[in-house]
Amino acid sequence: MTPDKSRIPAVFFGHGSPMNTLEQNRYTEVWRRIGESALKPKVILAISAHWTTRGTAVTAMDRPRTIHDFGGFPRELFEVQYPASGDPKLAARVRELLAPVEVTLDNSWGLDHGTWSVLAHACPRADVPVVQLSIDGTKPPRFHYELAQKLAPLRDEGVLIVGSGNVVHNLGRIRWTNDAKPYDWALRFNDEVRGFLLARDHERLIDFAALGEDARLSVPTPDHYLPLLYVIAQQSENETISLPVDGIEYGSIGMLTAVVGLPAG
Ligand code: ZN
Repeated sequence: MTPDKSRIPAVFFGHGSPMNTLEQNRYTEVWRRIGESALKPKVILAISAHWTTRGTAVTAMDRPRTIHDFGGFPRELFEVQYPASGDPKLAARVRELLAPVEVTLDNSWGLDHGTWSVLAHACPRADVPVVQLSIDGTKPPRFHYELAQKLAPLRDEGVLIVGSGNVVHNLGRIRWTNDAKPYDWALRFNDEVRGFLLARDHERLIDFAALGEDARLSVPTPDHYLPLLYVIAQQSENETISLPVDGIEYGSIGMLTAVVGLPAG
């Protein structure tokens, strides 16, 4: 049951508000610590809630641009640059691993805030190349879990697989105050997901919709939940998962972060 120390962990970050990029809080502190404790990856493969496509795509450019894919935030946030380079070789490797699923080599996207808002803390020097893999919005959860399982060999090739989303994400119900009380349905759904994660019950996590009304309210669209499936799909039989930080912000945004395969201590 000793974890294989040469394997790079896989991390799901609950990214929350883009303002976390500029803040220092209990979430960003944990993201920073994860970055420091993870075995130094050669490259990062990020699955962000903010890149949903028809079909699957992978960024293949040498120099991905920093995309400011939001509105209504201070100018300071629009000035953030995350200058990590890309890695066309990893893009080609991902394409090869995911065959026969067709993967488009993309030269137009870049790094969106799902990726850079967390990497600004976990990898602040931007000195590790980053490639993004898109989420095919036409496919069901099981497709994403099974697709992600094919990425597992990358963990032995120095690749850190990062999912960035939010377990609970309902913008329609958001309460924009810092002390907003979490909705009961958000707390219940988040607790169920935590329990399934700790029990390594991947089937129940794939079939989250079976949780009924709490799931419908917590995951009104699947984009922020699906990156979690890409991370748990990396968990082998003898690997543990840890949940180093959690919380429901603004009533309806779940900040749970989950780490697969980080050696204890
Ligand atoms: Zn988001």
